[in-house]
Amino acid sequence: MAPSIQFLGAARSVTGSKFLIRASEQEALVECGLFQGLKDLRQRNWAPLPLDPVKVDGVLLTHAHIDHTGGLPRLIKQGYQGPVYCTTATRELLGLLLPDAGHLQEEEARYANKEGYSKHSPALPLYTREDGERALLQLKAVDYDRPFDVAKGIEAVFHPSGHILGAAFVELRFEGRRIVCSGDLGGYSNAVMRGPTPLPDGLDAVLVESTYGGRKQDHRPVEDQLAEHIVPALKRGGVVVIPAFAVGRTTVLLYHLRRLQDSGRLPDVPVYVDSPMATDATEIYCRFGKEHNLKVDLLRSSKDCPIRARTTHMVKKAQDSKKLNDLDGPAIIISASGMATAGRVVHHLKNRLPEKRNLVLLVGYQAAGTRGRALLEGTPSVKMHGEVIPVRAQVRAINGLSAHGDSDDIIRWLGSAKVPPKKVVLVHGENEGLEAMSKRVSSELKLPYHIAEYMETYPL
Ligand SMILES: [Zn+2]
Repeated sequence: MAPSIQFLGAARSVTGSKFLIRASEQEALVECGLFQGLKDLRQRNWAPLPLDPVKVDGVLLTHAHIDHTGGLPRLIKQGYQGPVYCTTATRELLGLLLPDAGHLQEEEARYANKEGYSKHSPALPLYTREDGERALLQLKAVDYDRPFDVAKGIEAVFHPSGHILGAAFVELRFEGRRIVCSGDLGGYSNAVMRGPTPLPDGLDAVLVESTYGGRKQDHRPVEDQLAEHIVPALKRGGVVVIPAFAVGRTTVLLYHLRRLQDSGRLPDVPVYVDSPMATDATEIYCRFGKEHNLKVDLLRSSKDCPIRARTTHMVKKAQDSKKLNDLDGPAIIISASGMATAGRVVHHLKNRLPEKRNLVLLVGYQAAGTRGRALLEGTPSVKMHGEVIPVRAQVRAINGLSAHGDSDDIIRWLGSAKVPPKKVVLVHGENEGLEAMSKRVSSELKLPYHIAEYMETYPL
């Protein structure tokens, strides 16, 4: 049988990344993400996978984000016993993320049962914290740029993709062919992460993400945008709530807030990073000094560490998080998840949205069907834990802080090989991004393209 790839997620959507490669009589799964956002997408998390977990020979993860990894505990629960390859930093981050994802599922089910808002009785978690912890045992860390066998006759190499710490795009070699799966791609002008490494020459196909395929990012300096929205909210005594993932996005945010404070453009208000995995990310960034632009000797300085605001409080315990409900402004709360689909930020939004002086600042991509998208589109109220919460607080979004490259960055990366790829397969985008990207691939790069459809099997 000719080798093929089947798109089991992140096809005409930005979540649930999952691609099954059949080659050399083996099956290799690239990514094992969770679907998020729209209800019929989320329901796919519960549906049986169109594969036999016992027969999969190897799994690869490009980076730690849950929409690329959060399906793993379920795959393992259903019988997958083989290795799961990722980079060392990704393994490190997953040690925080996968147990937390299980914990969130348990909390959600517990809350639904307590308040009685679920249609299922009792509501069950997709998987538990314990399942998340068990999944970690199958992770195998691999260095960048070092080829390894993901299955018999399928070789893989991770290359830095600049998206978040540990993120990679993966080159796969089988039956005389070479393809690349981009994972999520970073931009070329990120303050903390380096840009993606060039695309290898002469590939047979490239699967590329198209999250921002339809958008050129607002290149007005991020710090100007942050100051413009945050300063007035703090002046009126408001609390600024920023939904963001605990490591990575929060780190970049703290970096910019610190610079604004150092230049006197932002007052020294308390900044709370509220997450059960709220670690001081400094330690992780020190350990992976080669992967980013920050200087490790500066990171080690307790006074001048560039990724902490002047008054940063890491809030780990649930009871300390609850205390923040009584906090009076001016203050800033950064809390996960980034699209307000789950996590402690949901409680903060519930508490702060009804009050006019507060500000909710959206700093990343908000997928269709998420609370973040509803807020971005100006919804007058939002449903949380079965309650309808009025939106009276100011809601604003800023561009340029995303860990994804914009359409210019994606085109630049696709054009970075001396010998161009034979074709481009567009994945991980919503329709607008996919259409815009396909036009640019065709007109500017003069390459044939294909837009991946959910469940489609595509010959390689
Ligand atoms: Zn990502």
